[in-house]
Amino acid sequence: LRPETLDLRDTLSDLIHLLNRLVGEKITLTLSHDPVLKPVRADKRQLEQVLMNLVVNARDAMPEGGEVRIETEVVSLTQPLVRDRAILPAGEYVLVKVIDSGVGIAPDKLQKVFEPFYTTKRTGEGTGLGLSTVYGIVKQTGGYIFVDSVEGSGSEFSIFLPVYSRIDEPEPLEQAP
Ligand code: C2E
Repeated sequence: LRPETLDLRDTLSDLIHLLNRLVGEKITLTLSHDPVLKPVRADKRQLEQVLMNLVVNARDAMPEGGEVRIETEVVSLTQPLVRDRAILPAGEYVLVKVIDSGVGIAPDKLQKVFEPFYTTKRTGEGTGLGLSTVYGIVKQTGGYIFVDSVEGSGSEFSIFLPVYSRIDEPEPLEQAP
């Protein structure tokens, strides 16, 4: 693991040509960034692997073509966020969403997609390691990943990565007069 300070605008602009090639011609890939994006601390190669995996899955969910959107946004949690069984500590995160307009994932399968060897693909098509690898990398990076999906209209993967701040100490408390 080689963590470095990353601006996801740079990471994604370095990767966009490859991602465009991966999705092919029937799929439109669009990127949109928070105008005041903040840095994260992550292994660049691993983060690229995460994005490639999610984009390939999105492509496979859209055999007739469609749209993949990658969005970044700074999210500030004023209190811990509880979702699934995870508890995200309060603080600032870069939220990266990978959104597709594909076939979607059935509700009973949604909680299983990050498990090793789980796959909806036919034998021989997927290894089933994709999303559990993604999950493992996100956990190693100190982040969180969630999925929302509506069958027949698409899926949305949300990755929360803690904002990296050079100052490790908490800000001094304001003194009461
Ligand atoms: P779980 O998957 O049964 O994990 C239980 C505990 O094992 C976790 O507590 C964590 O301390 C550790 N653990 C499990 N997998 C990993 C991993 O890949 N890397 C590392 N470093 N530790 C791991 P924690 O973090 O309090 O999570 C509690 C439960 O919340 C987890 O149960 C899981 O069901 C859910 N959860 C945690 N993080 C996420 C996430 O990013 N996305 C989603 N969808 N669920 C999460």
